[in-house]
Amino acid sequence: MRFGIPSSERPKPKRFHLKVPWNKGDGAPHERSRGLREGLSFALLLASTIVLPAFLLSVVAWSSIQSEELAIDGELNQQAKLAVDDVADMHFATFAQFETAARQRATANLPLTSNLSALSPHLRAAYRLDNAGRPLHPLTMGRLTPEEVLSPTQPHQRAIQSERIGEHQQAKLAYRELWEHTTDSRVLAEARYGEARNLWRAALDAHASGEVELAEQFFSEAEQLARVLMQPPLANSRDLRGYRLGDLAAFLSASITSRTHEAQGRSQFQTLLNELLERSWTIGNASEAALAQRILHAHADESWSRNASGILEERANALEWSESIQDEIALLPANAPRREFRYVGAREDTRAVWAFTQFGEDIYAFSFDAHALIADLQTHAANRGQREGLLEVSILGPFETPSATSLSQVALAPQLPFATITAKPTNLQALDTLKRTTRTRRRVVVSIALLSVLFGVLLSARILGREMESANMKADFAANVSHELRSPITQIRLKGEALQLGLTTDEEDLHRHYDAIVHESERLSRLVDNVLDFAAIERGAKRYQMRPEDLRELVATTGEAMRQPLAQRGLELELDIPDELPAVSIDREAIKQVIINLLSNAAKYGADGEWVRIRVRLALDSIDISVVDRGIGISKSDQEKIFEEFYRSADTRVRRKKGTGIGLSIVRYIISAHGGSLSVDSEPGQGATFTVTLPLGPNAPSPE
Ligand code: ADP
Repeated sequence: MRFGIPSSERPKPKRFHLKVPWNKGDGAPHERSRGLREGLSFALLLASTIVLPAFLLSVVAWSSIQSEELAIDGELNQQAKLAVDDVADMHFATFAQFETAARQRATANLPLTSNLSALSPHLRAAYRLDNAGRPLHPLTMGRLTPEEVLSPTQPHQRAIQSERIGEHQQAKLAYRELWEHTTDSRVLAEARYGEARNLWRAALDAHASGEVELAEQFFSEAEQLARVLMQPPLANSRDLRGYRLGDLAAFLSASITSRTHEAQGRSQFQTLLNELLERSWTIGNASEAALAQRILHAHADESWSRNASGILEERANALEWSESIQDEIALLPANAPRREFRYVGAREDTRAVWAFTQFGEDIYAFSFDAHALIADLQTHAANRGQREGLLEVSILGPFETPSATSLSQVALAPQLPFATITAKPTNLQALDTLKRTTRTRRRVVVSIALLSVLFGVLLSARILGREMESANMKADFAANVSHELRSPITQIRLKGEALQLGLTTDEEDLHRHYDAIVHESERLSRLVDNVLDFAAIERGAKRYQMRPEDLRELVATTGEAMRQPLAQRGLELELDIPDELPAVSIDREAIKQVIINLLSNAAKYGADGEWVRIRVRLALDSIDISVVDRGIGISKSDQEKIFEEFYRSADTRVRRKKGTGIGLSIVRYIISAHGGSLSVDSEPGQGATFTVTLPLGPNAPSPE
């Protein structure tokens, strides 16, 4: 069908056609069952393509909320594991780096027992060991037992006392007496050094009191004595404080030389310092460190002190550290693996982590500070926890058991076998809140999705319903048009044939035939006009020529033209038009068509009402043209739809009459093109009044 109906409104091909007709064997299916069948097909299609999949997806989405919570737990577990591994990695990396650095040094034949911080920041001391596992260098265990340390004898104390109060002569005699009468080499050495030191002090006193010659004599005596003391075996003896006498004597000698030969004296100090720094120091004896410190402090040359003070500081620290872990050193194992590192971890009651290895013939022990290691790990763990936000990462000590909420743990064996890294949720409540919000958010999303599907389904059903209705109406329209066309054509043909065959001879009869032919062709052209106009309107091609017109004349002549068809239905036309009407800007033919359409309807549906009235009323700025009939009237629900194209009331009294359902929609279109309005006022059984309001004045459409 082509009546210029926009493609969107053309009857759609029946997509939901069921193969088995609803009323099988019943000839053409009944209209209602066809609608039902299409509705069912649509429902089935909707259910299978949208509703069921959407429902299944929603069920899956709903059940996945649970697994999402598990995923949160899983993710936290994963994060905990990562965090704990990260801290553990740092720990093990410290030792791996240490091993690599140590191996590189060993390969390059560089010393392994100095420059310790470059090997590892937590390395406190490194020792070369003998075969029995005792430290040899740079520190060694003290050889003297407490019993071997002598307490000063009475004459010795007297000598020291006299020396202190400046009684140098008495002190000298006392020291002499001491070394002449002793058989103990250590007492002998001590007494001789005391004598030398006493001479030095006496020289200084003499010098201060201006006795220069005497002073020089004492200095030279002191120096001679010092030189004797610098030779072994005396030199190797140690005094009561642990100082090696040879060192003390060398210090004294260098001091005396410095007085007269500064450069020579300084070189003596430097030699002594180098010797002190290269020698193995005894753990528990800080004399070398103290003496070296003194040289550096008072007599060092800037250029060599810088280097030496670094070495001294490191050795002094290692000495101090070794003193604090003497018990652990005493228990060092004798055997060490070759080129591999073996660790003896710190226990809860020890301070050092030990690493052993052997390079070439040399066995080494490296001593790390366990507390510093743990402190570093704790800082790193705390940072790691903060970064994760929800996790608390910590290092547990020996007697601490991991909390029940702990998610991951790693032991730090072998270096710190008593310590464990653990990660647990910082705040279980926060975790619950996170889960709850995630759950709620997911539920809302799923519900919204479901609601939108539901909404979509309802909307589609509605749209499809309308489409089906419109398709039905269009189908009806096609049938109605053909039906309407057939009747006048048949009439014209019959009357024409009757005339042609000369069947009608009576003058009056002849006139009736001619009238009928004219009347039917007018009806035919009205119908064709309507269909063509409708097609033009649908195409958007309809144009109106507005001109000032005499509405009174137009309404009257159009009414008169319709008087005959109305009369045929037993209806008398009443015209109620004011004598004076202003000219109105309208399209004459269009308004004529409006009046004809309204009157045609009044003729069709107003039968039995005896009259049909055209009433024209002039208002301030508009003119109302009403067509009033006393026919079947229009129900309220129909009143809302009768202006839609193709709509025909389902009332059987309407259906009995021929019609296409486009008359009123054309009227509506024309009136709106004139800037006017259209209304209906009706009660079922009481007739209907259609009123067209055309604007006058500024609102009126201007003539084109
Ligand atoms: P048609 O008259 O060809 O069906 P119309 O568009 O002119 O189409 O009218 C649409 C519908 O409005 C009619 O089918 C009928 O139900 C209703 N209608 C129109 N005019 C009247 C009237 N004067 N009285 C009762 N019903 C009317």
